[in-house]
Amino acid sequence: MTDTTGYSPPHEHLVVVGNGMAGHRLVTALMARPDRPPRITVIGEEATTAYNRILLSPWLAGEIDRDSLDLPAPATHGLHWHLGEQVTGIDRTARTLWTDQGTRLEYDRLVLATGARPTLPDMPGIGLGNIGGFRTLEDSHWLMQRTAGQRAVVVGGGLLGLEAAEGLRKRGVEVTLLQRSDRLMNRQLDVVAASWLKDTLTQRGLTVETGAQLARCEGNADGQVCAVVLADGRRLATDCVIIAAGITPNTELGRLAGLDVNKGICVDGHLTTRDPAIHALGECAEVAGTTVGLVEPIWEQVETLADVLCGHATPAHVPMPSATRLKVAGIDLYSFGAADPAPGVESMTYADPGNGDYRRLLIADDRLVGAVLYGDTTDGPALFRLAQAGTALGAARETLIFGAADATHPLQEVA
Ligand SMILES: Cc1cc2nc3c(=O)[nH]c(=O)nc-3n(C[C@H](O)[C@H](O)[C@H](O)COP(=O)(O)OP(=O)(O)OC[C@H]3O[C@@H](n4cnc5c(N)ncnc54)[C@H](O)[C@@H]3O)c2cc1C
Repeated sequence: MTDTTGYSPPHEHLVVVGNGMAGHRLVTALMARPDRPPRITVIGEEATTAYNRILLSPWLAGEIDRDSLDLPAPATHGLHWHLGEQVTGIDRTARTLWTDQGTRLEYDRLVLATGARPTLPDMPGIGLGNIGGFRTLEDSHWLMQRTAGQRAVVVGGGLLGLEAAEGLRKRGVEVTLLQRSDRLMNRQLDVVAASWLKDTLTQRGLTVETGAQLARCEGNADGQVCAVVLADGRRLATDCVIIAAGITPNTELGRLAGLDVNKGICVDGHLTTRDPAIHALGECAEVAGTTVGLVEPIWEQVETLADVLCGHATPAHVPMPSATRLKVAGIDLYSFGAADPAPGVESMTYADPGNGDYRRLLIADDRLVGAVLYGDTTDGPALFRLAQAGTALGAARETLIFGAADATHPLQEVA
């Protein structure tokens, strides 16, 4: 794919498909710019105004109320909405799209911000009732109908699975968390931090099964799930199953429209598909072979695309690594970089089990390349910036593991 220059004049009618976190952020950014496209239409499949998906976890856990989820409405001048409508087709030649509600719209520029959905494993019983993901308001309402004493199986020991499991546990549900890997958050945590996390969750009352692979779900006479069966033959009775084992980008529209689709809808560094009138943004997009699952890189994509849509020359977006933070009350965890050191990478650790503090830093060529912080995570963002900047550690290398208390070490310089 040829990279576009990023320069083009503002367009008459911009249509944004998807009113999720990426679509909302883009529209908000555009509405703050005087040179935005004069007419913008947003089409969103979800019937509500845009909300903060990240906060579904604390909402499920009863830590915040529903109103806290609402994202601020952008200025409305020149902005049109079609909520509760799904775009079902695009004719690129006629620059027209249509929805499941019979709407037909012409566009000059089109942004696909259709996000992703939970990946459901292909296995017997997956279509039974009371099996679902944790992605939307609707999913959260479904989870909130679970009552104290009911049983739930959560499949997936990553961020989302842990947040779903804790949210349900706090509602009095008896939760078993199944993780296929031998450790929780296996992409982010080393063995020590993962085992501390497992111990903490177990003490709180979660049942955590690592090395546990789901083989099938069994249903009752009403077609509702009543048990899961693991690959080792164990059968666990349950009232519902929450699948949190990865996401699949929503690329169908791009595929139907004949755009290049790999894991996501392929775009260049200016978020442009091989059709110069169509862009993709957020979890549905694939930039330089990379798809995203966190908002930080999406915010960077938004800035680039807003420039492009306002006709400004702008540098190409380059995907950068992100840091991860768990949103479970009372468990502070921050991590970036590889979970395990590659050959030649040095690992430095500090553990204070009494205070529940653990740090593991990965260093290569005198530069910080990864960190896991459990307990006191205050230094996490500064360490991340230090790694991003590629600063040589020098003498500070010896003290970095003990935190930012030492005024001479480079955390002070980059914080
Ligand atoms: C419970 C939970 C907790 C999370 N916690 C964090 C966190 O702590 N930190 C973090 O960085 N990220 C977190 N994430 C991930 C973050 O929410 C996503 O990265 C972000 O929402 C992606 O934005 P998006 O706009 O690409 O997709 P979405 O927010 O999913 O928005 C896509 C929208 O497009 C709509 N749509 C799809 N197809 C069509 C169509 N054909 N027509 C019209 N509309 C369509 C969808 O209905 C949806 O509303 C969390 C996600 C969840 C579910």
